[in-house]
Amino acid sequence: MKARAFSYVRADSLAAARAAFLAASGDASYISGGQSLVPALALRLQAPEILVDLGQVADMRGVTLEGDMLRIGGLTRHAQMLTEPLIARHAPLLAQAAPYVAHPAIRNRGTLGGSVALADPASEFPAMMLAMNAQMEIYGASGTRLVPADDYFQDLYQTALEPGDILVALHVPSVGPRHRWAFDELTRRRGDYAMVGAGIQGTFAEDGRVNEIRIAFFSVAATPVRVKSVEAALAGQVIDAARIAHVQGLIEAELDPAEDEHLPPAMRLHLARVLLGRLLQTVSSAT
Ligand SMILES: Cc1cc2nc3c(=O)[nH]c(=O)nc-3n(C[C@H](O)[C@H](O)[C@H](O)COP(=O)(O)OP(=O)(O)OC[C@H]3O[C@@H](n4cnc5c(N)ncnc54)[C@H](O)[C@@H]3O)c2cc1C
Repeated sequence: MKARAFSYVRADSLAAARAAFLAASGDASYISGGQSLVPALALRLQAPEILVDLGQVADMRGVTLEGDMLRIGGLTRHAQMLTEPLIARHAPLLAQAAPYVAHPAIRNRGTLGGSVALADPASEFPAMMLAMNAQMEIYGASGTRLVPADDYFQDLYQTALEPGDILVALHVPSVGPRHRWAFDELTRRRGDYAMVGAGIQGTFAEDGRVNEIRIAFFSVAATPVRVKSVEAALAGQVIDAARIAHVQGLIEAELDPAEDEHLPPAMRLHLARVLLGRLLQTVSSAT
C-alpha cells in the first residue's frame, strides 16, 4: 500500500511549525525521525493532508546541562543516546536503554521527542522518562510549559500533548554520586519490542539503604507504569534476597496486563517479577 498524497512543510521555528499544523484544521501530522510515522502512512493508519517537518527547528536540537537538569532536545536521535557524553554522564539510563530500541538504521533516524510524543506503551524511552522523573517541555497555545512525566502519560497513545502541541525537549534530573540505575527487557528476538521491560533509578545511603527509588515498567499496560507499592516497600531498606522476594509478591496487585493471544497476562506478570528481581539485584550490588 502507498501513503495518501500529502503536502509537506519544513518549519524553521516552533511558531511556524504550529501555525502550519493549525492551518490544516486538524488534518496535519508533525514528523521528526519518521520511523513510526512513515510506516503508519504507508499502511494508511494515518493519512494527514499536510506533514509538518520539525527537523529544522533549532529549539529542538542539542543536549545541554542547565544547573542540575539535562535538557535533551526532542530531535536528539536514538543513536546519540549511545554517543553523547553528557547523556552518558548525567542520564545514563537512556544510554543503557538505547541499544534495545529497534535496530541501528532506525536508531540513526528516530528521535527521542518522536518516541516520547508517540508514547507507544512497549517503547523503552517513554518508560525511562518516568523512571528518571523527567519533565516534558511542550510548546502549545499558551507558549512553553513543563509537564512532569507522572502527569504526561494518560492512556494508550494519549499524553498531555494537545492537538498542535510540540514536544520540544526532555528535562532529566542529573544523576549524582549516590544514584544507582539499571535497565533490562525480555524479548523474543534482539531488536523486537519487549514482552516486558523496566528501568530503575534511585538514590542510596552510604550504608546501602534505599533513599528513594523509581521503577517504571513498559509493555505491561496501556501506558508505561511505575510500581509505587514496590517503590514504597524498598524506601529505607537494604535490598537483599528477602526484600526482593517480598516486593516481587507486590507486582501482581500493581500491574494488570491485557489479554494477549501471544502472551497471556499470567506469563507477562511472571516475566515482570523475574525482571524486577534481576534489576534489584543489579542496583543492590552496584557501588
Ligand atoms: C521495525 C521497527 C522497529 C522498532 N522497534 C522499536 C523498539 O524496539 N522500541 C522503540 O521504542 N521504538 C521502536 N520503533 C519506533 C522508533 O523508535 C521510532 O523512531 C520512534 O517511535 C518515533 O520517533 P520518530 O522520531 O521516528 O517519530 P516520527 O515517526 O516522526 O513520529 C511519531 C509520532 O509522533 C509525532 N511527533 C514526532 N515528533 C513530535 C514532537 N516533537 N512533538 C509532537 N509530536 C511529535 C508524529 O506526528 C507521529 O505521530 C521501531 C520502529 C520500526 C520501524
